Amino acid sequence: MMYILRPCAIALCLSISFTTPSAAAGEPAPEWLLHGRDATEQRYSPLTRINRSNVARLGLAWTFDDFVVRGRTHRGVEATPLMHDGVLYFTGPWSVVYAIDARSGAQRWFYDPEVDGAWARRACCDAVNRGVALHKGTLYVGTLDGWLVALDAHSGKLKWRVDTLIDRSRDYTITGAPRIAGDHIVIGNGGAELGVRGYVSAYDAGTGRLSWRFFTIPGPGPDEHPEVALARGTWGKDARWDIGGGGTVWDSMTYDPDLGLLYVGVGNGGPWPAWVRNGGERHDNLFLSSIVALDATTGRMAWYYQTTPGDSWDYTATQNMILADLPIGGRTRKVLMQAPKNGFFYVLDRESGELLSAKPYTTVTWASHVDPASGKPAISPGALYAGSPKLVWPSPAGGHNWPPMAFSPQSSLAYIPVLEMPLRFSTDAGPTPYIPGDYNTAATVSPPDPRTDAALLGASPPFAMQSVLKAWDPAAGRVSWQSAPMPYWGGGVLATAGGLVVQGSADGVLVAYDASTGHVLKRIETGLAIMAPPITYAIGGEQYIVVPAGMGGAMKVGYFPGYAALEYANRERLFAFRLDGKPVPLPDRVAPAPVYPLPDGLPTDPDTLAAGEKLYTRHCARCHAARGAKSGYPDLWNLSPAVDDAFDAIVLEGALGQAGMARFADVLDARDTLAIRAWLAADARALRAHLSTPAR
Ligand code: CA
Repeated sequence: MMYILRPCAIALCLSISFTTPSAAAGEPAPEWLLHGRDATEQRYSPLTRINRSNVARLGLAWTFDDFVVRGRTHRGVEATPLMHDGVLYFTGPWSVVYAIDARSGAQRWFYDPEVDGAWARRACCDAVNRGVALHKGTLYVGTLDGWLVALDAHSGKLKWRVDTLIDRSRDYTITGAPRIAGDHIVIGNGGAELGVRGYVSAYDAGTGRLSWRFFTIPGPGPDEHPEVALARGTWGKDARWDIGGGGTVWDSMTYDPDLGLLYVGVGNGGPWPAWVRNGGERHDNLFLSSIVALDATTGRMAWYYQTTPGDSWDYTATQNMILADLPIGGRTRKVLMQAPKNGFFYVLDRESGELLSAKPYTTVTWASHVDPASGKPAISPGALYAGSPKLVWPSPAGGHNWPPMAFSPQSSLAYIPVLEMPLRFSTDAGPTPYIPGDYNTAATVSPPDPRTDAALLGASPPFAMQSVLKAWDPAAGRVSWQSAPMPYWGGGVLATAGGLVVQGSADGVLVAYDASTGHVLKRIETGLAIMAPPITYAIGGEQYIVVPAGMGGAMKVGYFPGYAALEYANRERLFAFRLDGKPVPLPDRVAPAPVYPLPDGLPTDPDTLAAGEKLYTRHCARCHAARGAKSGYPDLWNLSPAVDDAFDAIVLEGALGQAGMARFADVLDARDTLAIRAWLAADARALRAHLSTPAR
């Protein structure tokens, strides 16, 4: 059973004529050429045709719906589109690249790298992709299965592709957008929770030849370059290189052409607890959770700044990095700004790496403050969970995750999609094995249980789980305004010279705020979760605001109240808005799923059920976690008889491999799948009995 819907036949795509609409004279910088629009990655557009006085007239211009879909599971859409010469370039799930007319939405071409669907098992957070890079007529995309692909931007034809992975037996993936640094194309990867060692690779933009590679942490072999030797001194003698170590560069990089420096955002450690990673000791572990500045020509390091020494909380420094010139201490400084997961907003001098300020932009308990002299955080003993569970703010989702923030030089404010939530951390009992294909965190996180965690809750700021947009004054280090809460998480952000800040969220609402005051100027309901950041551009005097939509990614494992996907069919779509556009037609309403009879004749003995639950937790729960509740993955507590009959064909033989459900025959056999089915049926029976018992 394999379903691949093709958006259009190649012949049809190529028959569409190529016209290049030109921008109206006098319109400032109408295009969106780089991931963060320009080299500053501020995600700030100078366009003003849509502005705070008329944005109430914003409406739908057109949609693009022809995404490649595999099977029945729709995937997250996280890409930042680029716009050049009248064409929009973006990616969808499965690393598929689309080129469409930026004025009409008509498809020019698409390129499907035909990623092996089983690779989805290696991804922490869905088969997503965050976009392409464009350089001298060539488009670049990193594919989920680790290739860097170069395409002719005009035709979509493959120019070359190169394997970026150093070890294909490890669970590396690529979900981030490549960046251009001079004549190099740079790409990192993901997989810190799945047992990999992080690095970035730079390739010659023309030929695809490897120019340099920078490893973000040491490894089991000889040091590849001087920075690895420097880092090695900050790891334990008995560090767990077998588990990979982490430090993946899975999203942000920013290139400053004036300084020739490429800033690289490095991810968290793997496994999570620093003491497990370092053979019982805590060490800083360079360059985990760091911003590293590299000479883009040579790959040699100019400076580094570590945001979370000895990271034990999944505090990646992979959140987007924005460059600006800010007046600080009476003079203008060339700064780099980042709001990483750990909850502090950092302003660094981007020439030297000097810390200029670090102030909490969300509730933070893992550290009391960052010492301005040493640049180091004062880590709270109450955040170290080696001996007993601890409730720590922010959670591993971070105070800010990948949806990019924006910065407006007009308001001098950064606009951050902020998450407010703690989680309870505990270490796994016993020795930590490296299990290929598994989530090798060596830690468990969960919401606090009021019955058993009263002491933890009593010592913590009041529990919250919310998402807000905060306008942050980086010079003063404080919040200027913040939005009303929205369903957990809010999407990426766009700022414009029209005095607007535009952001969507999981409830499917796109909101335009007044950039200075935070007043809501326009709300557009789309019926589809918006995680990706909107962009804007102009053609022929008309300004468009464009945003891809579709629920997926990390939040796909369980839908929270308010999610659009609870009410409307979730499918990939790109929206284009303009002044005096139309209302958005909402997607079909979700039909309630039939309640299927539970299979009978399965074992019910406690040993089998216990084995089934353990196997389910280890191998299935990372996606199929939502016990009878709604999620973006099929509900295993309510399998149709046809799917239940095919359980072994799917789980052991890979019948749905191309749709993203890999085979698990390397870790499960028919006895195991019987135990999993038995436990699921027994648990579903208990769940249904519970739900049908009237509350008292
Ligand atoms: Ca992580």
